[in-house]
Amino acid sequence: MDKDGKGLHVVFTGAPGCGKGTQARILKERAHICHLSTGEMLRAEAAKDTPLGQELKAALDRGEFATDEMIIKMVSNRIDESDCKNGFILDGFPRTLPQAEALEGILSEKGLKLDRVIEIQVPDEIIMERILGRYSCMKCGQGYHDKFQKPKVYGVCDVCGGTEFARRADDNRTTVQNRLINYRALTYPTIPYFERKGLLSCVDGTGTIEATAQKIARVLGLEDNTAAAEAV
Ligand code: AMP
Repeated sequence: MDKDGKGLHVVFTGAPGCGKGTQARILKERAHICHLSTGEMLRAEAAKDTPLGQELKAALDRGEFATDEMIIKMVSNRIDESDCKNGFILDGFPRTLPQAEALEGILSEKGLKLDRVIEIQVPDEIIMERILGRYSCMKCGQGYHDKFQKPKVYGVCDVCGGTEFARRADDNRTTVQNRLINYRALTYPTIPYFERKGLLSCVDGTGTIEATAQKIARVLGLEDNTAAAEAV
């Protein structure tokens, strides 16, 4: 699936905690495309000791969205970088209808086409447990979970051997409730929008990480029929 011959361009959408970031990291490796997480870009900006950084940090800590104007500019500039030439997965963008409409313009300006929007579906009762238990390696970003995905050796990252881990400041109960409210009010309307354009595929995200990854690979016509498929 590569409509414009210029790589694979995919959007991952779904409620906070549905697994967009985890699945984007897997697809990035499988398809050799770039993972563009607007949440990660904003967290990097918010960590800077600048007026914009401080303003952003306060908004993210409350679970509020950044402005459409700022995000649209940020994504458009990021897509122009050379590591996106084989394609990209947008994780966390578009998050509002104006962002969804702007995406079409951004891509057509650059001669690119959106191949697919994948909604990862997970019910709310599972979301809270997933988010409140998650943390990641501070060195390589590998994600873990208190209950569902512990490192093989306690306190040591499986991937890079790092020993320092962190939880996101916005992964607390009050902020997650706010993020879910914002998701339903502002992001959910983008799903019928993409469905009307014939771009939407829905994937059940309640199974194992690998099972969900296989479903996504199948939707994109990327599945390999080897060991990974047998593991599902
Ligand atoms: P995420 O890492 O995708 O969960 O995003 C973390 C936070 O960053 C969100 O709760 C929003 O506050 C903000 N954010 C991420 N992407 C966007 C976006 N496309 N538009 C507005 N705010 C965003």
